[in-house]
Amino acid sequence: MKIHEYQAKEIFQSAGIPVPQGRVATTVQEAVTIADEIGGPVMVKAQVHVGGRGKAGGVKYAENLEAAKIWAQRILGMNIKGLEVKKVLITEAVDITSETYLGIILDRVTKKPVIMISAAGGVDIEEVAAKTPEKIHKLAVDPRIGLHPYQARELAFKVFRDIKLVRQVTDIILKLYDVFWKADASLVEINPLITTPINLVQAIDAKINIDDNGLFRQKVISDMRDLDAEDPSEVEAREAGLTFIKLDGNIGCVVNGAGLAMATMDLVKHYGGDPANFLDIGGSSNPEKVLTAMRIILDDPNVKAILINIFGGITRCDDVASGIVHAFRELNPQVPVVTRLTGTNEAAAKKIMKEVNLPTAPTLDEVVQKAISLAGLGEE
Ligand code: GDP
Ligand code: MN
Repeated sequence: MKIHEYQAKEIFQSAGIPVPQGRVATTVQEAVTIADEIGGPVMVKAQVHVGGRGKAGGVKYAENLEAAKIWAQRILGMNIKGLEVKKVLITEAVDITSETYLGIILDRVTKKPVIMISAAGGVDIEEVAAKTPEKIHKLAVDPRIGLHPYQARELAFKVFRDIKLVRQVTDIILKLYDVFWKADASLVEINPLITTPINLVQAIDAKINIDDNGLFRQKVISDMRDLDAEDPSEVEAREAGLTFIKLDGNIGCVVNGAGLAMATMDLVKHYGGDPANFLDIGGSSNPEKVLTAMRIILDDPNVKAILINIFGGITRCDDVASGIVHAFRELNPQVPVVTRLTGTNEAAAKKIMKEVNLPTAPTLDEVVQKAISLAGLGEE
């Protein structure tokens, strides 16, 4: 789950990481009121769940109230990478003497939280990682022991010389690790961590992603969820109890079980297609779930074919078949649908499926190839 910059900054602030003062606004009037309270120049910052807002015109400096009003008018309602801006953070503008990158991710290779710090902050860190990886200093933390102060200090020294700055940055690294750990985060990031002309260190941007599997014990953070800022199809899927992740491809996938869904997507790629989504309809699938799944997938204009791959264990193929027939009557899909239903109650499923007369295939390889050819891919 993602949260907004202003929410991440609230968490930073309670952890003792210095951030410029500010508040979020949903209207121009509110934005002006906050700017007035802050007094002096402010930043007007779009609150959307994507990076690179600055480059997209969603982060602006406002010298005075008049400018703050104009930028709030322009940024509220703006579209950034497909997301509409519904909130802006109004925050005190600070003078910057340097921009550093500081982040912690859960690294699957070392199976540890990895802290990264780089003097090449402010800009696209992915680009730094790709072109000049030597500019990023890393440390994998043993989660059983946690982060030692000397380790944080060593990291701070990689970028800073002045002892006053090193002390502040060391303290921030330790606190950031604490936030990462306590929030069940998969990522925390400060880009940039800045220094000011009077040698103060502050986080002027903030990002926290939470591992969804930890949300049940993260009451405060799960309450921060902003449904308005999420992909509507993912929201609908979650409410229906489906595990759904939207992707950029054109083969819609309806599968039961996460492992089978991954294997199906791998094969789609292998045979030259591109999955439009990851979707696990779960174990004991009722027909309702299949209907919702089909509706969500058909909402995506990129989808050229739907591939339904069900291995009946606890899931009964006839339940899924009823769902498919129901979905056909209700949704009348205009794209080809190809199915493979095998396992529990397979024969009953086949009888039900006769009604809609869909192409089927006996094996995983064949059903995937059929979906790709019906989607008309590779012929363009
Ligand atoms: P992002 O584009 O989504 O990463 O948004 P950021 O909050 O990181 O802002 C982008 C850039 O705007 C920063 O790297 C800074 O260079 C600049 N910026 C943001 N806030 C301030 C500020 O208070 N003062 C100054 N001078 N520049 C700022
Ligand atoms: Mn940033």
